[in-house]
Amino acid sequence: MNARTFQPITTTLIRRSLGWVLLCSLAFSSLQAWLTYESVEKDFQVAVRDVANTHVPLLSLALWDIEPRTIQHQLDLLLDSPQIAHAVVRADTGQRFEGGKSGAGIDGTPLTFVLPQPNRPGTHIGTLELRVDSGMLYREILRNVAWVLLQGLVLTALILGLVVTILRRDLERPMQRLASFVTRLKPDNITQELALQRVPGHLYDEIDLVADGFRTLQENIHHHILTLDSRVLERTSQLEQALASLKVLSSADPLTGCFNRLTFNERLPNEMARAKRYGRPLSVIFCDADKFKSINDTHGHLVGDRVLAILGSCLRQELRAEVDWVARYGGEEFVLVLPETPLMSALEIAERLRQRVEQDVTLRLADGRQLHVTASFGVAQQQEQEAMESLLHRADEWLYVAKNEGRNQVLPPRSLPQSELLL
Ligand code: GH3
Ligand code: MG
Ligand code: MG
Repeated sequence: MNARTFQPITTTLIRRSLGWVLLCSLAFSSLQAWLTYESVEKDFQVAVRDVANTHVPLLSLALWDIEPRTIQHQLDLLLDSPQIAHAVVRADTGQRFEGGKSGAGIDGTPLTFVLPQPNRPGTHIGTLELRVDSGMLYREILRNVAWVLLQGLVLTALILGLVVTILRRDLERPMQRLASFVTRLKPDNITQELALQRVPGHLYDEIDLVADGFRTLQENIHHHILTLDSRVLERTSQLEQALASLKVLSSADPLTGCFNRLTFNERLPNEMARAKRYGRPLSVIFCDADKFKSINDTHGHLVGDRVLAILGSCLRQELRAEVDWVARYGGEEFVLVLPETPLMSALEIAERLRQRVEQDVTLRLADGRQLHVTASFGVAQQQEQEAMESLLHRADEWLYVAKNEGRNQVLPPRSLPQSELLL
């Protein structure tokens, strides 16, 4: 995981929505608080008027009967109402009755009610002035508004808590399980089962879509891993085959099918070293087509090529498979390497080869005539501590002598004394 700070998706969603929820709930609560304020104030005014209207007839009667004690008593009863702070009765005759408290929290503008003559509405015998307790009004408003705000706050907190719980259960936990499953997934445990432990009975949603996507991916990777081994094996075998044919191609002479000069130069030192190490005999035979130039000159190079191919094939067939081998040394000259073969045996093999060439290397020409080919052979056995150049030189020397002495023969002769075989 990179160094970026991790923050669960639920926290981000809650943070983003929390501000908006609070703002909306504040706006809604403020509106509700304003309506409550209006309603409380209206109720307060109605209550004050109700109190006044209840006491006006009794005060009128007491004022008309000029009963100061009754008037004062009515005033005291009136002042029992919590909304009214101060009350004054002024009689038209100049008398004044007063009760209640004064000072801070008492509304300055009084509410004035006319005291009519009993049973004669519209007349005027005095006035009743009431001052309301605005402090009490404000306390009432504050209490109501605070209650509304508290309700809003509690409701918001409840809804938020519920949303958080649902988000954590339905979104955050499945996503965390999915993330931890994916992080632990490795090629050797690719088949492990993804269990999101969703709430029972939930509907198929985006999380299920992602989970199913992962399951399909797991199956595909598993299948891919299974087929990968067999595909690697198949490719490896194809590569090995290609490599083997490449080796053959690069080591063989395309015209004759024998090893080329490069391979000869690589293989012969190894063969000689092995023979020397185990004290085993090793012989080489030089073979050169006789008067080959005249075949080319008379019949053309294509015929010469075909003759060379037949000669190479003939030499290869006569040798022991997997032991002896033959290389095209150059032009119409071949060199045969015979491990585990002393000189006498090599001379016999060379003689057999000579006869085979004379007998089998023939080509029917376009005019129907049969073209016969012969070859000369020079043979040498590896001597102790002898270098490759020296061995080849001795065999080549015998070939040279064979050419000079009439061709189509093997040299040295088997009858030659041992001491003369080394030239
Ligand atoms: P000798 O009996 O003394 O070996 O005589 P020669 O004619 O065989 O020997 P020489 O070295 O004079 O000539 C060899 C000829 O072989 C010359 C060359 O044109 C021919 N030659 C060499 N390589 C090829 C080849 O790949 N294809 C063909 N058609 N001819 C080749
Ligand atoms: Mg030749
Ligand atoms: Mg030659």
